[in-house]
Amino acid sequence: MSMSSVEVRTHTALHVVKGAVVKVLGEKAKWTASTYVKGNRGVLAVKFDRKPTEEEIAEIEHLANEKVRENVPVQVYELPREEAERRFGEDMHDLFPIPPEVRTLRVVVIEDWNVNACNKKHTATTGEIGEIKIRKVRFKRSKKLLEISFDVL
Ligand SMILES: [Zn+2]
Repeated sequence: MSMSSVEVRTHTALHVVKGAVVKVLGEKAKWTASTYVKGNRGVLAVKFDRKPTEEEIAEIEHLANEKVRENVPVQVYELPREEAERRFGEDMHDLFPIPPEVRTLRVVVIEDWNVNACNKKHTATTGEIGEIKIRKVRFKRSKKLLEISFDVL
């Protein structure tokens, strides 16, 4: 499925929001369970054990927009899986593993922010994303899932 240019921006914003989530909520929030992108609307779902406070949510939005304003490169490395795993470790993986038959990984790196094996299209820099506005945060206690919905403006 091809992505429109706005969806490329929204998808790249997932990486930026994820980085901010881990900075604010810590390593416990590092496992992405699912992502969703439609137009300028994105949803990031991570494993977590509680609903964040209003202050934490505001801080996530603030840090994400700071990273956009820094306009840093979104680097993409294409590497043999073993090398990628040696270099980036488990942090590049999501909750649900990439099938073992996949031998070459594309790894997206926003330095000191987010590392993720991902084969979708990305903007070249974070500045191209535009402003990120968190719309809604839901915590599903039974599944221990934190869902962060946002728009890119
Ligand atoms: Zn990606």
